[in-house]
Amino acid sequence: MVKPVVAIVGRPNVGKSTIFNRIVGERISIVEDVSGVTRDRIYSSAEWLTHEFNIIDTGGIDIGDEPFLDQIRQQAEIAIDEADVIILLTSGREGVTSADEEVAKILYRSKKPVVLAVNKVDNPEMRDQIYDFYALGFGEPFPVSGAHGIGLGDLLDEVAKHFPETEEEEYDDQVIKFCLIGRPNVGKSSLVNAILGEERVIVSDIAGTTRDAVDSLYTYDGQEYVIIDTAGMRKKGKVYESTEKYSVLRALRAMERSDVVLVVLNADEGIREQDKKIAGYAHEAGRAIVIVVNKWDTIEKDERTMRDFEQKIRNNFLFLDYAPIVFLSAKTKKRLHTLLPVINMVSENHAQRIQSSVLNEVIMDAVAMNPTPTDKGKRLKIFYATQVAVKPPTFILFVNEPELLHFSYERFLQNRIRETFGFEGTPIRIIARARK
Ligand code: GDP
Ligand code: GDP
Repeated sequence: MVKPVVAIVGRPNVGKSTIFNRIVGERISIVEDVSGVTRDRIYSSAEWLTHEFNIIDTGGIDIGDEPFLDQIRQQAEIAIDEADVIILLTSGREGVTSADEEVAKILYRSKKPVVLAVNKVDNPEMRDQIYDFYALGFGEPFPVSGAHGIGLGDLLDEVAKHFPETEEEEYDDQVIKFCLIGRPNVGKSSLVNAILGEERVIVSDIAGTTRDAVDSLYTYDGQEYVIIDTAGMRKKGKVYESTEKYSVLRALRAMERSDVVLVVLNADEGIREQDKKIAGYAHEAGRAIVIVVNKWDTIEKDERTMRDFEQKIRNNFLFLDYAPIVFLSAKTKKRLHTLLPVINMVSENHAQRIQSSVLNEVIMDAVAMNPTPTDKGKRLKIFYATQVAVKPPTFILFVNEPELLHFSYERFLQNRIRETFGFEGTPIRIIARARK
């Protein structure tokens, strides 16, 4: 299902990131722990009652050295481009400012629904101050307090009223959807062209429904594929398009619609900090992953070159140890033929289902080989395991006390599952639940 997108816009300091974090809630990032990548979040999935949606904090997208008003104007444009519903956030402490009016003016021009929220209404006495905000022309203002978590329910109820009717699944389940992510200039567009050109395929550009993405649908060897648009392929000439945060946002959105993510590196330039960050996002998205080393033609090679490069990748992307690596050249098309079989393989693993009986045998064997950990005299007991989801494969372990499943033991079980069932290319998730 395609989730609706909500964007928060407003001048600096009204509390956009505070509200964003409140709505998103505590989501512990695995990658932040594992890879030492720290970052400020601007995009996340969120839930309200039965609704699932994605939310963007446009305030986190800084647009170079532009003057302050231009920055917020562009953030408003991003919201209009990317979102189904926009929250215009203001502050009850300062009242309506001219910068609020500027943002409002831009939002008028779009047809997107706008819900007006007045933040920093920390106590009921302050509610009288929201009436001035009717002047912004977006109807009833919703008083909220990001600091105290007040009013968010009513705000989100209103936001959810404007969600589009649930969109149909865009493609048949058999179709493999993939996207390419990576720094600028690693060769993403060249690689797309090489894939589409080389394979003598039927190409059709489908203009995306509400999100003006361009997908390329093609068939090769009886298998249908869709390449999902990413930032590099979208040239609308808007100022914000070249900013790093915006390209991250585009990449996150493309990954969300994909089964498989190709993390593209440039052999010529080696591995950079930004590559690690991008790979971290891919890991967190829970998609199948292939690491593609492009521009392999630019490297002087001997029999050890590939192995050395692979080792470098493994050392730098510890959390992607499950991802296969493909070396190729989009330019000369050398080794290009090795890519699709790997995409097929990881996509299959990503959707693999394991029978409970077989799974439990493997878990019991693992426990016999390496006894469960103890903590303060208490031993972890695993009663039963079952797979509850695919894409990515997700397993629930029913145990006596979930806290006893330490990271290292979870890792051990993961590895046993991987070795037995061959989950190459896909992350797998293990969740411990207390058995009642
Ligand atoms: P942004 O620039 O719009 O993302 O604003 P921030 O989320 O960074 O918040 C700006 C400042 O307002 C910070 O000092 C917050 O602690 C404060 N703030 C945010 N929400 C509230 C609120 O509901 N009440 C009060 N009193 N302060 C708030
Ligand atoms: P993107 O920004 O990631 O989409 O990168 P592009 O596809 O625009 O490629 C950036 C530059 O790298 C262009 O000048 C390409 O011609 C060049 N390039 C792309 N792939 C290869 C390759 O495999 N080998 C070499 N030598 N150059 C390449």
